[in-house]
Amino acid sequence: MENILDKTIIGKKDQVEILEVPFINTTRDQFLDIITTHIERKEKKFIITANPEIVMQTFKDSYFKRIIQEASYVTPDGVGIKIASKILDKPILERITGFETMIDLLQTAAKNKHNVYFLGAKNTTIKKAVENVQLKFPGLQVQGYRDGYFTNKESVEIRNEIKKLQPDLVFVGLGCPRQEKWIYENIDHFNKGIFMGVGGSFDVLSGEVKRAPLMWRKLNLEWFYRLVTQPWRIKRMLELPKFLLKVFKEKVENGK
Ligand code: UDP
Repeated sequence: MENILDKTIIGKKDQVEILEVPFINTTRDQFLDIITTHIERKEKKFIITANPEIVMQTFKDSYFKRIIQEASYVTPDGVGIKIASKILDKPILERITGFETMIDLLQTAAKNKHNVYFLGAKNTTIKKAVENVQLKFPGLQVQGYRDGYFTNKESVEIRNEIKKLQPDLVFVGLGCPRQEKWIYENIDHFNKGIFMGVGGSFDVLSGEVKRAPLMWRKLNLEWFYRLVTQPWRIKRMLELPKFLLKVFKEKVENGK
């Protein structure tokens, strides 16, 4: 993939590096403005929303590390990243979560008539998600959608379809890092578009998975809600203390 970081709007000063992952340090509103500008200019960008678990993934998967370092924007998704930035004395302004970024972009897309494409989740789930977003954001132009269970041959067909449709926004929900790898390996074929991995967001949009109640989210307890409702996530959540330990280690080493 061509390195598209250099052509982003924000400069190095608006980035905070945490364990070699370059996070953007803007407010959620500023980020939305930046992405809207890229859409108006018909540019191509790749957004990764990264939480501690995703940062930890870079230590196990060097290919994924390269992808995250080459993406146009990595947003700080989750309170763990915010804590890490404070530990490293490089505080980030605001959390910019994947789900909220997608909702912000869909809202803006409906207003500005940007076309969107959804890729991911089970067939019935993505259908329901599309129905729900069209009700929630009247006027939203969903150019196409496709479930996330496809063969290599079908992957090429999906790529060709996106190439033909030229959507302004492409949300890919295959889980991390599969979705980032799919974007990375296909993005050179497209002329324009904002490409973003959205994990299990289509499951939430379809109504099949509930997000934590607002109060829990405000208290930064969404992770705890997910743990109670989806206890099989425990293994992944145990990455958080490991992440914080690494951050402390980096602080100590840099302080020498
Ligand atoms: N998924 C998919 N294709 C696959 C594997 C998974 O489309 O081959 C979808 C799955 O149906 C779900 C999402 O990817 O909608 C993964 O959700 P999860 O919450 O596990 O991802 P995370 O947000 O943790 O990255």
